[in-house]
Amino acid sequence: MLLSSRVKGLSYSITMKLNEKALNMTDEGKVIYNLSGGQLPIKPLPEFIEKIHHQLNFLKSYQYSPVSGFTNLRKKLTKYVAEVRNLPTEIFENDFDCIVSNGSKHSIYNGLGALVDPGDEVILLVPYWVSYPEMIKFWGGIPTVVKSNVFDAFVPAVEDIRKAMTPRTKAIIVNSPNNPAGVHYSDAWMKEFAAFLLEYPDLIVFSDEVYSDIYYFDPKPTYFYQFDHSLLSRTIIIQAISKSLASTGLRLGYAIGPAALVNAMGKIQGQTTSGPNSLIQRALMDFDLKFVETFLGPVRHHVRQNAATIREKFREANLGHCWYQSTSAFYFMIDFSRTPMFARFESDKDHSYAIADELLQNEGITVVPGSDFGVPNSARIALVIEEVPFQEAISKIIKYLNRA
Ligand code: PLP
Repeated sequence: MLLSSRVKGLSYSITMKLNEKALNMTDEGKVIYNLSGGQLPIKPLPEFIEKIHHQLNFLKSYQYSPVSGFTNLRKKLTKYVAEVRNLPTEIFENDFDCIVSNGSKHSIYNGLGALVDPGDEVILLVPYWVSYPEMIKFWGGIPTVVKSNVFDAFVPAVEDIRKAMTPRTKAIIVNSPNNPAGVHYSDAWMKEFAAFLLEYPDLIVFSDEVYSDIYYFDPKPTYFYQFDHSLLSRTIIIQAISKSLASTGLRLGYAIGPAALVNAMGKIQGQTTSGPNSLIQRALMDFDLKFVETFLGPVRHHVRQNAATIREKFREANLGHCWYQSTSAFYFMIDFSRTPMFARFESDKDHSYAIADELLQNEGITVVPGSDFGVPNSARIALVIEEVPFQEAISKIIKYLNRA
């Protein structure tokens, strides 16, 4: 079969293979601790489910919505984002628009499609979400990577972003709170980034904020455009209900940005998927988004507890040098390179996948290999499972890390 060169350039997710193995092991009756999940293992709050039930009664819930989503929902989401970011209410009134898509991944994909020409460079900050480089390449662009490491709690230096800039740089994707690091960038970082952006007036920013509501360490996440509103004219804000409302399977995300860009995204959406799920859009239109705070209170508490378990167990096991303070989203990156077990491996190569495989085979724990996120010899774990099995899983990981 002569497949397109575009699709041949796409990578398969190696995580899928690990998940398949884990499923087979579960079928064989083995106990598996699944720390590889990218979602909250709970249902959304009853008030939202109730709205979905109610909307089932209406014909419009079963019919096409406008390509970019229902106008009232787009207005509501725009107003909500302005409110929660403490922006003037009228800020998005002229020259801005909102598009609702089938998940925020779809919004990012459309946004890149509307901007990236073959050969254009898009800057990614390590660790980056797995799908960014693949989406950039799919549209013919070139991902340029800015490094970070565990010593800086996985926050890259703004100065290093400057070094990555070239005449072909079109855009940068910033994801705070960050998947997979589980940290958000500080106010000081965001201010420095805002100042940097003022020096590069053509640079467009994707601000992926899908985890903005999930933080458990003050101060809460802030964004560069809050320090200089003029930057909104080249920022595309990416949001979703996937994480804040524990609704990954409902596939609803949105983007707010300059009208010309959002309209172009609508063109792509119109000729490919059409508008997103009408039922869920209508339920969301009817739902008071203030409930998100009530819903996330216990979630934040739970993730904070599991993060504290990592800190305590790492310190007790003399692995404090591999620990950093995670603050948000629901992940933590384990750096293998300075633990006793790593003595068995060649240090100048990436062994993330082999180590993840060992963790599964020997300890029954699934993790996501760090190579997927641009961090060699590491793995991402999710902090969402129940406290007791989480403690058991961390103890097993530590035993493995300390085994030379
Ligand atoms: N952005 C980040 C950083 C993510 O981690 C995810 C999902 O895991 C997404 C975007 C996409 O989420 P969705 O398409 O479910 O809205």
